[in-house]
Amino acid sequence: MRHHFYAAIVAACFSVLPACNMNRLIMARAVEAQVAFFHHEASDTGLERLAPQVYTFAFESDRGIVVVTSEGLVVSDTFNQRYVDALLGALEAEGVEARVNTIIYSHHHLDHVGGGRSLEAPHVLAHRDVPRYWANANASDAAAPTQFTDGTQTIEIGGVRFELIDTSDAHSETLLALYLPESRILYAPDTLTPGVFQLGWTPEVPIDGYLRTIDTLAQLPFETFVASHMGYAQRAGFQKTVEMQRDVVETAKRLFDARDISNVYLHYDAKIAPDGFLEFYDELHARYGDWHGFDQNILPIFIRLYTTELLGDVLPEQST
Ligand SMILES: [Zn+2]
Repeated sequence: MRHHFYAAIVAACFSVLPACNMNRLIMARAVEAQVAFFHHEASDTGLERLAPQVYTFAFESDRGIVVVTSEGLVVSDTFNQRYVDALLGALEAEGVEARVNTIIYSHHHLDHVGGGRSLEAPHVLAHRDVPRYWANANASDAAAPTQFTDGTQTIEIGGVRFELIDTSDAHSETLLALYLPESRILYAPDTLTPGVFQLGWTPEVPIDGYLRTIDTLAQLPFETFVASHMGYAQRAGFQKTVEMQRDVVETAKRLFDARDISNVYLHYDAKIAPDGFLEFYDELHARYGDWHGFDQNILPIFIRLYTTELLGDVLPEQST
């Protein structure tokens, strides 16, 4: 009798009390892990000089570049007011005159453009379509663009050449990368982060377009690859990450082909779906289990690649 009483209490606890709901606890743990993902070892590392005229500045998980020219500084991106305030403090401590001549916005996303207005830069360069997005988003502390670009183009500011590269298929329609040919530094926001287990930064775009853009970046003769979140690396670090991404995509393809997913839907079968995922997890864990972000990103990557394959979610052929 007493046994039944306790069993009933435990059952009631699991069904009613939030603290006893295992699914809820598992999800909370997964969210907590997402926060840990952004505390990468290269986050919050401040100002570093990459070349005589080029600095990178990391605050929290955001990373930008600052180029010293004869006309003043060129800054890309500005992220948010906390980032800008910390950057100005770091430049002063380094003895760099913080007169900003130009802000180059990599794209319209609000997490990249905040705080820009406070810099009072006379020139602000952005993709032509940025104002159309900002008409429907609150970009009130971003700097208003004064010059526009359609994508790939080379500009010169204060004796320094900047090659803008269209990377719109990798993440957002307005996305540009910035290549500095004199110092062989590539700043390619929201594409990849060297050494991080990830397949693009959200929002999601077709994977084939993403990988094609990464291939385009790989053609540039850069020596240093700077990501806009977390770290930067020499070319070998970029290459190793690209190889990991290709391996992840091919592993998924092999697994989906073996299960004939156009006829046997994984998402309709409570046995083969988790088995398929665990096979994917185990195979990749053996190779990349120690990479930053493996456990946080492996499930979203699996779902994304499955959906890509099932839907045929690709870019259309270029019209001629
Ligand atoms: Zn973005």
